[in-house]
Amino acid sequence: MQPFVDDLLEGKAALITGGGTGLGLAMARQFARLGADVAVASRKAEHVEPAAAELEELGVRAVALTFDVRDPEMVRETVAAAADRLGRLDVLVNNAAGNFLVRAEELSLGGWEAVRGIVLDGTFHCSQAAFPHLRERGGSILNIVATYAEDAAPLVIHSGAAKAGVLSLTRTLAVEWAPHGIRVNAIAPGPVDTEGAGSRLWAVPEVRRALEERVPLGRFGTEQEIAVAAAFLVSDAAAYVTGVNLPVDGGSTLDTGMFDAEAAERLLRRPEGEDG
Ligand code: NAP
Repeated sequence: MQPFVDDLLEGKAALITGGGTGLGLAMARQFARLGADVAVASRKAEHVEPAAAELEELGVRAVALTFDVRDPEMVRETVAAAADRLGRLDVLVNNAAGNFLVRAEELSLGGWEAVRGIVLDGTFHCSQAAFPHLRERGGSILNIVATYAEDAAPLVIHSGAAKAGVLSLTRTLAVEWAPHGIRVNAIAPGPVDTEGAGSRLWAVPEVRRALEERVPLGRFGTEQEIAVAAAFLVSDAAAYVTGVNLPVDGGSTLDTGMFDAEAAERLLRRPEGEDG
């Protein structure tokens, strides 16, 4: 699917954290297909180097960088290296994350700090480091959150709290940095079968099935469906859009309310006058 004009992102340079795998890589591919130069950055060279090599084949400039988003000094150096090697920086996508299923009462301090550190602190460090580059010509930040950031996050309390914090950053920076010509938005993906999420969050088929049943559109999303929404939000087509959290989730944030839809259907189909 190529829903946009081919040069939608021509002339832009983007840095995508966690850009060597899953949704990050899908966004990197989509941005490159639309003409953007792309830097992909994460901890492991074996994730980002093949990604950058693949992106270069699409005819754009691509750079692989290794860093840990939790380390502010490393983040400053990496963001500067991306801007330097691509010649500019117009877009930052805060996509790197960690997550695992755990009961709140059993979550260790290390687990709490690791997820909060990557998701919330990492998003802040990267955004702050990108600010001087993004304000040069006006740019945008896109934060990848999750539907539960606006809601309860049972069994992923660390991720839920951190993603809710990222939503707060999204809205605050959208206002604070608007005078600098910087837009800040978020996407809340519903369940998408990436290798990372699949192995950590729904390795058991029953869990996957139950998740799928709760999506009104009746299926998981695809990496590409998130990537095209991301391309829109970082493009000039969204020049008047800032501070939004766009759910790309098959309707899964729209709870069916008080009635279980299937049970209610059975009730509605009952012949008149029949009780119990
Ligand atoms: P993924 O492939 O596991 O992506 C996570 C990425 O973060 C990896 O590329 C990883 O690369 C990088 N990363 C982890 N720790 C890092 C650190 N300390 N510093 C720098 N990079 C780090 O999983 P995904 O499913 O594509 O998830 C991408 C984003 O979408 C995440 O923000 C996730 O919360 C969000 N999301 C996904 C779903 C879904 O259903 N898939 C649903 C809702 C939200 P390295 O290992 O090389 O560091």
